[in-house]
Amino acid sequence: MKKQKTKSKRSKTGAAKRKTAARKPAARVSNKRAVQASAAGTNPARVRAILQKLDEAYPEVTCALDHENPFQLLISTILSAQCTDVRVNQVTKTLYVKYPTPKDFAYADPSELEQDIRPTGFFRNKTKSIMGAGKKILEEFKGEVPRTMEQLLTLPGVARKTANVVLGTAFGIASGVVVDTHVIRLSGRLDLSRNTDPKKIEQDLVKVIPQEKWILFSHQLIWHGRKVCQARKPRCIECNLERLCYAKDKTV
Ligand code: SF4
Repeated sequence: MKKQKTKSKRSKTGAAKRKTAARKPAARVSNKRAVQASAAGTNPARVRAILQKLDEAYPEVTCALDHENPFQLLISTILSAQCTDVRVNQVTKTLYVKYPTPKDFAYADPSELEQDIRPTGFFRNKTKSIMGAGKKILEEFKGEVPRTMEQLLTLPGVARKTANVVLGTAFGIASGVVVDTHVIRLSGRLDLSRNTDPKKIEQDLVKVIPQEKWILFSHQLIWHGRKVCQARKPRCIECNLERLCYAKDKTV
């Protein structure tokens, strides 16, 4: 009886050991994944070299959306969702003459406004967003576009990307990095982030890019994505980052 007990104790200990042994490689794998998720391409020297190359290629770039004040930039950024900046600029050329203030948008005729912004796509939702943003700015922010991320995020149709564009470009406030479709793609290709969720990509970028560069870096990456590192066929032969880049879909 005593022997049997010992045997069962031993076999339990053996099973526990086997379990622990089986767990060890899994833990190692998950640690490896954690390291991979933080992107190997973010060592400070490499990031500095990337920033230097971007400065050389795009020393003074800024937002491509035409605007004369923070409110117009806010509206243009909302309109730019799923639409090119060129198309937005064509639409806003006459839009801001017809609707010069937040009040004009807030109390617009929705079906008329829908037709006015129709070429930018998703015009029904965008109409709701810009009318709602106009109303809220009028009623809660005394007609002025708010200057904090927290307040901007309370406006209809405004998420972090739009808020970062407005804070950075209109007010010169470095609140984060603008993560649009170009920044998502380029952060991956340049191995600055291995995440796919825009919020997580922004968190990765703000860790490795110095804050004083956040505003310019966003514009530089967006311009590079438009001009050179295009989605379908990146023009790697023309890219001054080529020697630093080891993207799988490089074309040279
Ligand atoms: S080398 Fe090619 S893939 Fe890499 S950043 Fe330049 S254009 Fe993009």
